Amino acid sequence: MFYHFWVRWIRGWTYELRWERGYDGIRARQVDSVAKLRAVVEWARRNPHIEKCSYKVTYSPEGDMVETCSSGHSLLTPKPNQPYRMELALKLVGCPVCPGHYLTVCPECGEDFYDPPLDYVCLPGK
Ligand SMILES: [Zn+2]
Ligand SMILES: [Zn+2]
Repeated sequence: MFYHFWVRWIRGWTYELRWERGYDGIRARQVDSVAKLRAVVEWARRNPHIEKCSYKVTYSPEGDMVETCSSGHSLLTPKPNQPYRMELALKLVGCPVCPGHYLTVCPECGEDFYDPPLDYVCLPGK
C-alpha cells in the first residue's frame, strides 16, 4: 500500500517595497492573507521613505512530494554531483490553468509524473 501525499498550492501574496535612497528595510516578503497584505500596503503608504509598494499573487507548495510513480516505482534518482545521495529530479513546469506542476520522469518506466496531479483541464508545458 502506498500513501500518497500530494503537493498543493497555497495562495499568498508577495510584496515588494522600494526604499528612498539612504533608507533600507524589508524589500520583499510573502504573506498568507489579504489582511496582512493590506496592513503592509497601508503601512508602506504612510511611510515617506518608501517610494513604491507593489505586490503580486504567488503560490507556494505545501505538502510532501510523491516519491513513487503510478506503478509504484521509486522516483528518486542519484544526485548528479553526489551519486550516493538520492533525490527527486524535479522540474517545475507551467500550466495555463493552475500555478504549475512538479514534473519527475520515472527512472524505471519513463512515465511523466506530475505533482500536484493533472486536472482534466491541465495542460502543462515541458
Ligand atoms: Zn515508473
Ligand atoms: Zn495544471
